[in-house]
Amino acid sequence: MKISSIKGFADILPGEVETWQFVEQKAREVFALYNFSEIRIPIVEKTELFSRSLGETTDIVEKEMYTFPDQDAKESLLTLRPEGTAGVVRAYVEAELYKVEPVRKLYYLGPMFRRERPQKGRLRQFYQIGGEILGRADAYADAELLLLLGEFFSNVGLDGAALELNSLGCVRCRPAYRKELLAFLAQQENKLCGNCRRRMERNPLRVLDCKEESCVAITAGAPSIQGFLCQDCREHFETVQKLLRETGVDYKLNPRMVRGLDYYCRTTFEWTSDRLGSQNAVAAGGRYDGLVEDLGGPPTPGVGFAMGMERLVLLLGTREFDADGARPSVYFVSVGDGARAWAFPAAHKLRRRGISVEMDGEQKSLKSQMRRADKVRARYVLIVGDDELAKGTAVLRNMDNKEQVEVRLDGIDEALAERINAK
Ligand code: ATP
Ligand code: MG
Repeated sequence: MKISSIKGFADILPGEVETWQFVEQKAREVFALYNFSEIRIPIVEKTELFSRSLGETTDIVEKEMYTFPDQDAKESLLTLRPEGTAGVVRAYVEAELYKVEPVRKLYYLGPMFRRERPQKGRLRQFYQIGGEILGRADAYADAELLLLLGEFFSNVGLDGAALELNSLGCVRCRPAYRKELLAFLAQQENKLCGNCRRRMERNPLRVLDCKEESCVAITAGAPSIQGFLCQDCREHFETVQKLLRETGVDYKLNPRMVRGLDYYCRTTFEWTSDRLGSQNAVAAGGRYDGLVEDLGGPPTPGVGFAMGMERLVLLLGTREFDADGARPSVYFVSVGDGARAWAFPAAHKLRRRGISVEMDGEQKSLKSQMRRADKVRARYVLIVGDDELAKGTAVLRNMDNKEQVEVRLDGIDEALAERINAK
């Protein structure tokens, strides 16, 4: 019986996975440079963690979460995490990380789940790499995070990603903007999509995020939040921009960018690429100064981002990587029972020395073993037959230049290690 995978849930196969490993490696390197520690959080959390932190009227909470009853406690619901920030903040509060040192720079990588319509660059299980700086309210933290992302993109060889910035103000200045925006929207209410009309009263800023063409057209003339920022928010935002200019990071202001989640305040940003089509955001994030307190911790500011791995990999394309990891250094070709019996423990010894060895156990013909050695791109082939074994010798073939030499089996691991490490 053939069973297929679920729509929106993809395999990442060898050939493609090397790009993923490369990206993950580069991410770990850049996080280390900026003094971030990894955090691993569960994939399943209580539903209320997400509904509370992302906001009841967000797309994710309204219709995209994979939620199911907890078998052990029937009254409670569990959800496959749709994003990482809520879990990181929950862990920060739960482990009281702030007690030892409130400033924490944390990163995570792993799968997220959202029940969206699968399409190019949009899956139901997708992977994110995310970073959070907790405990810092200063604009330097925002700028540092953006610089880190810029460095990361340049280190993986991504070019053409553009940074868009906005400030959403704070609890003090946003209400005035909200009121003004609501008044503007009320005049056009009958032209907005059903979704926007329904949400308008509770969260009018979300209307600016609507992807419906008619809504985009109507809100083109909406008042801009920039004119409503209080002095603190304005100064904060100006400092972020000044720091970016000083470090040579290009950006564009986009006063319509409100982001989809309720926890954001002040700086929000998106890195986009026009090569991605309509799913054009590679990474996005912003400041969330109220979230830690909302989730039961002490007042603690925070700022973070999440990057979509699938979209980044799409942009990088499948490239030729140094695939040494999947390329055996030596292939043991053994002809005869005695030779195979010798080869198995000999391969084990070499692997323990850190040398990758491949062999087959089916006693195929010499020709077919050689063909396979060629296919797996082995660097050397060691050919051992029962006759050679009796003489204590074998033939070593360099698969790159096709040179063959006779070698002594006595001390063969030394000899192989020397050759392989010399390369
Ligand atoms: P979009 O506007 O593209 O739906 P978003 O605002 O929902 O993105 P975030 O929640 O900010 O996205 O997540 C950050 C990043 O994660 C996105 O920029 C994107 O690269 C990636 N991402 C989000 N949803 C998906 C998905 N369903 N499939 C693949 N990648 C995704
Ligand atoms: Mg989305």
